Amino acid sequence: MPKPFSIPDLSDEVTLARYPFLPQAKPWIANMAAKHEIDIDELLDGTMMDRARVRARSRLVDSVDSKDGVEMASIGDIHTEEGRLLEAFSFYYARLVVGASEDERLISRWAQAEAERAQHILEKDDAISLIAETYVSEVRCEEGIWKVGLSDFIELCTGITGSRWRLPNCDINDGWVTLHDEGDKYSSRGKMARLLRERMKDDIKMDALEKMEKMDESLLIRLSEPVGMIRGLVASKTAETIALIGAGEEDWPPCMRKAVAELAEGVNVNHFGRVFLGSMARCIGLPAETTVDFFRSAPDFNEATTTYQVGHLYEREYTPSGCSKLKVNHNCAVRTGDDRLCDQSWMDHPLKYIRAKQRRRKQQQSIEVDVNLPKTGDA
Ligand code: SF4
Repeated sequence: MPKPFSIPDLSDEVTLARYPFLPQAKPWIANMAAKHEIDIDELLDGTMMDRARVRARSRLVDSVDSKDGVEMASIGDIHTEEGRLLEAFSFYYARLVVGASEDERLISRWAQAEAERAQHILEKDDAISLIAETYVSEVRCEEGIWKVGLSDFIELCTGITGSRWRLPNCDINDGWVTLHDEGDKYSSRGKMARLLRERMKDDIKMDALEKMEKMDESLLIRLSEPVGMIRGLVASKTAETIALIGAGEEDWPPCMRKAVAELAEGVNVNHFGRVFLGSMARCIGLPAETTVDFFRSAPDFNEATTTYQVGHLYEREYTPSGCSKLKVNHNCAVRTGDDRLCDQSWMDHPLKYIRAKQRRRKQQQSIEVDVNLPKTGDA
């Protein structure tokens, strides 16, 4: 695709923090990480990055939940170093989470939302000139009217609906397309920002897919909780079922199976166990009706009450409790030696169990495919 041979220098830290996906932001983020000693452990679990993870969560939730993309306003002051750190590393963390989901649809959705957010800021930000030069090979602005080279325009407008973006309706002169100002309806700058969104989206998506390819198993497992949160949200928004993530019953952790089995036998599972089961079911994308069915044989089952309580759990997007709380509340199903995965030192959350099970099954399947492939020279 036509992209500039060289990208303009950009050293304004506010701009880099606002658009952390820019190619110019990479060395800046690396410097910030070195300066503040932010490594992967700090980003995933450290207290300094607490607020960045909160902001990342809202970036992710907005990408699923909001029609207008990610909320523009940062939760910190971007004119301070702390605010810039927050903005840049929340993006970085959110990208890790979508990468760890290994779900290309989720990655596309997130890239779209981040690009939309950037588009809305660019409509008012003078950095639009530098960013346009970063992404578009032929672009210029004369007295507030933007012009784009024809080949760039053709490529960028294919993903945009609306008759004004179709070539026969465009003002093309000498290989340049003029983005006319339509006043309050659609400004020339607004049109430029809209075109840029397409390229920003592609770049954000490509970067996240690259991260996904490079993700190792331990990182995938460490990110299980936020991935579960966002997948649960996607599932509840799109009414997708368990097939979304393929967590079949064989992948469920023993604590979840225990709760389901006990309820089926009419055993009275305690409140903590019930909330855990409901939130696990939501996270793995089970429809609310299936979750209600788990409780049907419970001694105190009441259809209306259970439907209401499960609905409440799904709406509030509860995240399941971790192993330590489940153990304290007598909802853990194993003792040392019962289950090899539960015995692992890193096992502190049932969602990690599911993730590890899925990974192992996937690896097992690829080994089986290898074994079954006819060897070269076989008759
Ligand atoms: S160790 Fe954790 S994942 Fe395993 S059964 Fe207990 S609570 Fe569930």
